[in-house]
Amino acid sequence: MPPSPARAEALAAEIDARRDDLAALTSELVRFPTLNPPGDHYRDICEFLRARLERSGFAVELMRAEGAPGDSDAHPRWNLIARREGARPGDCVHFNSHHDVVAVGEGWTRDPFGGEIDAGRVWGRGSCDMKGGLATSIVAAEAFIAANPDHGGAVEISSVADEESGGLAGAAWLAREGWFDPARVQHVIIPEPLHKDRVCLGHRGVWWAEIALGGRIAHGCMPFLGDSAIRHMGAVLAEMEAELFPALAERITAMPVIPEGARASTLNINSLHGGADEQPDDYTGLPVAVVADRARMVIDRRFLPEESLSDVQGEITDLLERVKARRPEFDYTIREMLRVMPSMTAPDAPVVRAVGDAIEAVLGREAVHVASPGTYDQKHIDGIGGVKSCIAYGPGVLDIAHQPDEWIGIDDMVDSAKVMALALDRLTAA
Ligand SMILES: [Zn+2]
Repeated sequence: MPPSPARAEALAAEIDARRDDLAALTSELVRFPTLNPPGDHYRDICEFLRARLERSGFAVELMRAEGAPGDSDAHPRWNLIARREGARPGDCVHFNSHHDVVAVGEGWTRDPFGGEIDAGRVWGRGSCDMKGGLATSIVAAEAFIAANPDHGGAVEISSVADEESGGLAGAAWLAREGWFDPARVQHVIIPEPLHKDRVCLGHRGVWWAEIALGGRIAHGCMPFLGDSAIRHMGAVLAEMEAELFPALAERITAMPVIPEGARASTLNINSLHGGADEQPDDYTGLPVAVVADRARMVIDRRFLPEESLSDVQGEITDLLERVKARRPEFDYTIREMLRVMPSMTAPDAPVVRAVGDAIEAVLGREAVHVASPGTYDQKHIDGIGGVKSCIAYGPGVLDIAHQPDEWIGIDDMVDSAKVMALALDRLTAA
């Protein structure tokens, strides 16, 4: 059911009146240097958001993910959840953002934490990923409430820690504490920078593992007396090139992953080490002559909803077994480092339809359904929390995230805020 033009116009007017406020709020958020690692100023930004959201009629809770990975007294992992209860029954719509930002890096011509507003953009680290999205959701909620003081359901806004480092002390911790229980939250919108006309349905799965090979040390002048783990690793690489990479490239998901290349199953070799540890930095002599008695590789396997995790794991074991059959002394271990299941929201889920119809009403074009090549907090909200009506939708261009001179367009934020407010209007009435 598309929104009525009068309704859309009233909400759009509320948002347009807040344009400067939206830019200023984004700028203020960028000025908190919430770098992760190590996880700086989380409490400061949460306190700032608490003051803002309490003024707007939200009940706000600040929570430290005590004991979660990454949490320490020096760098406490603070999270915020704000809720505004409606006057009538209805669904709860939750906007989930993260407040951590990645390292600044080289190549900036602007102050990374200056929050400069110039040329229709807000500049700085985290402006695009994703303080602009956070500010957009706040202004959208405030405008919606101003236009509908007796709205139904409930509106929630969260700002969480550590998305950039896996979210264990952020969305995952909150999900484990019950904050993403479908009994209290029915729809989640994650304002990651996927662009204002795209609805992101989910992401592929991840399996990280370390493959370690053994060998036997010997003098390098008589390598035949030893057994080189590096040569064994060479055989593993050859088998991957011959069999695994071609097989993965042919496996294509029905999920609308962008960019196109990420629609296939992929494997990246993150690192490769062979032989004894490298010499200390201050050592200027030659390395010693020995046969490598160990080698290890860390793989990053991104898999599709059409593949099961046990198939993904079995494929690597089978590959190593094939190599072993040809090399008598070959010996391996596999150690899992990380697993994330794929998450894919149904294209007809209520939040997908509501945001899609709102995009059409605001932008006059059909929403594009996409899926992300990498993961984001949807894995915890769906995987641990169990909320199935969950998408990523927010302003900004993903390619600019994590780059020098990061920015977000103010027009894009205004348009996205209109979309969010319209989606709220529809979903909280359900
Ligand atoms: Zn992000």
